[in-house]
Amino acid sequence: MQYRRLGHSGLKLSALSFGSWVTFDKQVDAGLAERMFGTCIDAGVNFFDNAEGYEAGNAEIVMGKALRALAAPRDSYCVSSKVFFGSREDPKPTQQGLSRKHVTEACHQALSRLQVDYLDLYFCHRPDPDTPVEETVWAMHNLIMQGKVLYWGTSEWSAEQITAAFEFARSNHLTPPSMEQPQYNLLYRERVEEEYAPLYEKYGLGTTIWSPLASGTLSGKYLNGVPIDSRIGLPGYEWLREMLVDSERGQARMQRIQALLPIAESLGVSPAQLAIAWCLLNPNVSTVILGASRVAQLEENLGAITVLDLIDDEARRQLEAI
Ligand code: NDP
Repeated sequence: MQYRRLGHSGLKLSALSFGSWVTFDKQVDAGLAERMFGTCIDAGVNFFDNAEGYEAGNAEIVMGKALRALAAPRDSYCVSSKVFFGSREDPKPTQQGLSRKHVTEACHQALSRLQVDYLDLYFCHRPDPDTPVEETVWAMHNLIMQGKVLYWGTSEWSAEQITAAFEFARSNHLTPPSMEQPQYNLLYRERVEEEYAPLYEKYGLGTTIWSPLASGTLSGKYLNGVPIDSRIGLPGYEWLREMLVDSERGQARMQRIQALLPIAESLGVSPAQLAIAWCLLNPNVSTVILGASRVAQLEENLGAITVLDLIDDEARRQLEAI
């Protein structure tokens, strides 16, 4: 495994980490999660990602049970949560967003569900137009001062919103955000490569990127239809199927994904491994958060770390063209 600094912070995260969106509680129970964490830890993974909004808080409960059963030393891994969407199906106004009240209570609830004393990383899952950024920065700073959070960050905030948080924190001697969690993959690049470009040096922003396989599509699994036991075949994820496969844009993407297959074949690796390794070519990516519904997928995807060295200039050029 490779380890990368989270931006300019001193925290070193494994280049490949593991997340729980859709999977934990829906496809993965605590027993399977424990086996998956074992696979991760054996491979050197040290960061596990979660959020209050994943399966209404239940993904955190599953993760907490699995981590407890695994009994890995607490100082050997990092765990995250995210606040914004709330952990209930129908959250009340005080149970969502980025107010001081909800940021604080969501942190306490995540600590209890995950069975930990502190969150290593805590993200604002989306920007909140109804809360002044100053209030959220103060709430995060206070949680850090109380030892309940070590690093705070944002997810899918614009460069302008991240800048506002930094500037307010800096000018008031508060703790600025250390990282952003954006989508980044072969098919979705602009924000990480262009919009955030000025932030990496100026503010030392780290990135924990999500959906490296665009919800599995970059594995090529949807090129010949939708397997019944796959993410976009799940009840409740029809919107994702429409977006990724059924829409005109989805179909255009499928054609581009087709072009990934011969490049992977020529390198003797799987399309999923190649797509994940491509994300790691970007030095501004601190960690790529993997998703998996089974151990075999996780093992395959963790192999991406060895694929990095195989991507020569020609393969890189072909990938860029996709
Ligand atoms: P991916 O794009 O890698 O998708 C993962 C899914 O693809 C798996 O659950 C599995 O679904 C399928 N898959 C994975 N590997 C393979 C393989 N080798 N062959 C075939 N199918 C495969 O990542 P995610 O979208 O899951 O995102 C990763 C993590 O990022 C999340 O768990 C979460 O922690 C975080 N995230 C954060 C967001 C944010 O807003 N901050 C948003 C989304 C995710 P299946 O088997 O069911 O088809």
